[in-house]
Amino acid sequence: MSFDFLSRRKYKIANSYSNPKEYAAWYSMLDRCYNTENQAWNNYGGRGISVCDRWLGEDGLDNFCKDMGPPLPDQSIDRIDNSLGYSPDNCRWASAKQQARNRRSSKLITIGEETKSMAEWCEVYNIQYSLVKDRIQDGWDPLKAFTTPKKRTYLNVGDKFNYWTIISKVDDCNKYNCRCKCDKEAIVAAFDLMNNKSIQCKSCSKLGNTYASKNK
Ligand SMILES: [Zn+2]
Repeated sequence: MSFDFLSRRKYKIANSYSNPKEYAAWYSMLDRCYNTENQAWNNYGGRGISVCDRWLGEDGLDNFCKDMGPPLPDQSIDRIDNSLGYSPDNCRWASAKQQARNRRSSKLITIGEETKSMAEWCEVYNIQYSLVKDRIQDGWDPLKAFTTPKKRTYLNVGDKFNYWTIISKVDDCNKYNCRCKCDKEAIVAAFDLMNNKSIQCKSCSKLGNTYASKNK
């Protein structure tokens, strides 16, 4: 459908239409997407952003009004996913403030051919949101930000944590073979060692020889 065809019909509708706000939103949406002279075209039509057939056809404006309902005075049309076009599923009325907030909180990230919110990508890659957020803010490449595992803190053989001394690392996990002061050995997680969750072997615990009490 050519823009000339659309614009001719739109002008006809405009004169008789009773919802000026909806009309204005609908018109400028089409203009951004199909009029190469529009100043914003580069960011819309030029990027492949289009309007769904339902809003383009003979009853386009009527369908648009039916689907969207009336906007509040300070609202304009907002695409939920910025990589997608104008359609009932992807559009809502939102104030400039709401739109800015949405852009901040649900920053959309494109990896390969797919665009998702940061939270959705975090689920896909099973990685902590706050970790990725910091990386993206630091300017990391998105794919790298989601796929680089959290840096592990490696402990060394001979390191001492309370009663424990590290003997060796357990393969493929962040756990260590440790020797207690009493010479019993056990596997202890690095987190437990570093956070004093495990300070000695079970026997020593039972005897009440806690590191803390001994050092009082
Ligand atoms: Zn012990």
